[in-house]
Amino acid sequence: MKFEAIAVEKIPLIHEGDNLPSIICEKIGLQDRDIMIIASTIVAKAEGEIFRLEDITPGEEALEIAARTGKDPRFIQAVLSKSREVFVETPFMLVTTLAGHTCVNAGIDESNIENGFLLYPPENPDASALKIGKELEKLSGKKLSIIITDTNGRAFKIGQTGVAIGIYNIKPVKRWIGEKDLFGKVLEITEQAIADELAGAANLLMGEGAGGIPVVIIRGLDYYCEGDTSIKESYRPENMDVIKQGLRCLRN
Ligand code: GDP
Ligand code: MN
Ligand code: MN
Repeated sequence: MKFEAIAVEKIPLIHEGDNLPSIICEKIGLQDRDIMIIASTIVAKAEGEIFRLEDITPGEEALEIAARTGKDPRFIQAVLSKSREVFVETPFMLVTTLAGHTCVNAGIDESNIENGFLLYPPENPDASALKIGKELEKLSGKKLSIIITDTNGRAFKIGQTGVAIGIYNIKPVKRWIGEKDLFGKVLEITEQAIADELAGAANLLMGEGAGGIPVVIIRGLDYYCEGDTSIKESYRPENMDVIKQGLRCLRN
């Protein structure tokens, strides 16, 4: 068994309004059931999610958090504007975004963008994945899965990794429940985070700096699943999320 991960080279710096599907399609020949991993950074750039820090006016809550933490109130306002709940204020803002993803600073980046600018994540990464995927399928005539990724930290361990924040034609999680192990025991709880694992594999080629590799093709794995899929299927239901419950207790 083996699979391939292929960096798509020579993608230019992306700007607002750029047509990502046609840019990508020019750089790589696609095959049926390829899984295309796209860094959210370039999706956000193409969608124009770029803001000037100096143009942001902090509201009351941002000023309060800034006073408590010593952080730039404009940056806090940016994070709040993309968040539905704040769990941690310092040493980092840990929030659940409007799209439902829980991460540091609502996924707002100051890296790989000009100085003084903030790059917000795509508004609706599932919708972005669907739009890009449909267009790429039209251009290439191939059946494709798409995963839009971001770099996230993890609880309990040092080191960030690529994670999936939006998907198209792939399930985020593979259920092993009901399957047997090597000894014939029936698995009761195991679910494999396929989309995050693929995001992590692709991130090995992307890196985090000036590499200029925002798109990676994974070929040779069969996770194609046509139809309506959403990264939201992988968000733990609120009533089962003991970590969020614990963080709420600490904050209140
Ligand atoms: P994020 O994980 O989605 O926040 O994206 P990163 O900032 O970590 O960038 C992932 C990869 O994409 C790195 O190899 C960057 O150098 C590359 N990258 C970021 N923006 C661009 C761009 O506009 N054009 C190209 N070609 N590469 C980019
Ligand atoms: Mn990012
Ligand atoms: Mn990254």
